[in-house]
Amino acid sequence: MKVCNMCGSQVADNVTVCPNCGNPNLGVSQPMPGAPVPGPQPMPPQQPMPGQPMYGAPMPGPMVQQVSNDKGNFGWAVLGFFIPIVGWILYFVWKNTKPGDAKMAGIGGIVGFCFNFIVLLTSSL
Ligand SMILES: [Zn+2]
Repeated sequence: MKVCNMCGSQVADNVTVCPNCGNPNLGVSQPMPGAPVPGPQPMPPQQPMPGQPMYGAPMPGPMVQQVSNDKGNFGWAVLGFFIPIVGWILYFVWKNTKPGDAKMAGIGGIVGFCFNFIVLLTSSL
């Protein structure tokens, strides 16, 4: 009996090629030290599973829809009241994206402009 030095299977002496793995070199009667040992192969090191949930990662929250906020912030009206030009600029910048804030800033600018106009008229009289 010979032992295949590739796969370790026992081969008859008159056979020159291993019937199991096709190894043509059957001169060695014992497996070479360090040769592949027949049997279950050692498992490769554990790889991190792709798609495993990441612990500690921030959960994506629901999308905050700013456009739906039509009430507007009264602070922009106050800002537009004191600085009408800024209020009108904000109105034109926001009228498509934030109509509520744009309306507040625009109204504040108009009211502030009228208020300043009246103040100027009354003070000049
Ligand atoms: Zn073999």
